[in-house]
Amino acid sequence: MSAVNQSHCADCGQATTPCTGKRGCRHKGKHEYYAVHDQVWIGEAGMDSGFLCISCLERRIGRRLDVADFKDVPVNEPADPWHTERLASRLAPTPVALLEEAVAS
Ligand SMILES: [Zn+2]
Ligand SMILES: [Zn+2]
Repeated sequence: MSAVNQSHCADCGQATTPCTGKRGCRHKGKHEYYAVHDQVWIGEAGMDSGFLCISCLERRIGRRLDVADFKDVPVNEPADPWHTERLASRLAPTPVALLEEAVAS
């Protein structure tokens, strides 16, 4: 049994922080380790403890995560190279999204 906690998603079972625990293991672009506000995690998703991957959390809340859903804590640092592409895209609005926002307002 591995001593490495891979934080398996409560819904799909996928490791949200996959790690081989071996030397040379690379985490770049593979981890979905993040913290969202309680009203999203508990209120909308109905979670208490545990982990969810981005797609299962978004399925539970029935919408796409927005940068405002994330807590202002170091694990949510948008530039963290360990984040998966989809997590990074939720944490940092893309130039296209910003453009759409500017057009809409
Ligand atoms: Zn999942
Ligand atoms: Zn690793």
